[in-house]
Amino acid sequence: MDLEKILLRKTGEAIARYRMIREGDRVAVALSGGKDSLTLLEALLLLAKRAPVEFSVCAFTVEQGKFLRPIEPLAAYLKDKGVAWTYYRDAPSLRLAVEQPGHGCDLCSRYRRRAVYEVARGLGANVIAFGHTADDFCESFLRNALFTGRASALPPVTRSSDREFRLIRPLVFVTEDITRRYVEHLGAPLVPCGCSQRADTVRKAIRELLGQLETRNPFAKQCLLSAMANLDVKRLLDKRFLDLKDGDSGPEDGRLPIVTEL
Ligand code: SF4
Repeated sequence: MDLEKILLRKTGEAIARYRMIREGDRVAVALSGGKDSLTLLEALLLLAKRAPVEFSVCAFTVEQGKFLRPIEPLAAYLKDKGVAWTYYRDAPSLRLAVEQPGHGCDLCSRYRRRAVYEVARGLGANVIAFGHTADDFCESFLRNALFTGRASALPPVTRSSDREFRLIRPLVFVTEDITRRYVEHLGAPLVPCGCSQRADTVRKAIRELLGQLETRNPFAKQCLLSAMANLDVKRLLDKRFLDLKDGDSGPEDGRLPIVTEL
């Protein structure tokens, strides 16, 4: 189908551009139970059959006590497909959900990160793939620029802090419109997380803003992604990149404070 061709082209382009996957890699896909990571898994399984480099793919899911539906249909779906999948009930996260039900995302993410590395290590993986999409990159960029005063989004490829794993986000060029339609086409069972029902007002506002911009420019997301890859640092305000040799160079670090009165 055309949709699959588009998905594979965009995923392959990201993998090649950022050298995400290399000869002999064992890639563990972090399956959250949502549409994006399921799409990613399928794309990597298909690409593994036709890529010029040899790599293997496995998948895992970390249970943190937040799933709203039983995991069994997903388990059956993956078994039918012959996917090597590990379901890991993370005891510290499950305790956290009971003992501190109001905990925030920072704590939850920290627990998840530790569990993710533990599972990936057990699977003998050297690469961990996450399902962040083009939408996530654009939203993250706008959120950071508008709410924290930083021009940054997510790294398409990076290393875990001890450099044990390469962390990759091969769906950087794939929009959620594609993952939504592709998962429907697959007929894959989704296992939503309770948090996805919570109202994140900032995220909602940014999504609405992007939606409005897209009515004027249907390529707004592509433009934002291109902007992230085409920094014109001499036309921005960071002094580290400006030629100030004849003037007072001021403090070494050329960044403005996070909030500046204009
Ligand atoms: S949204 Fe929920 S699952 Fe996601 S990091 Fe926050 S608390 Fe954890």
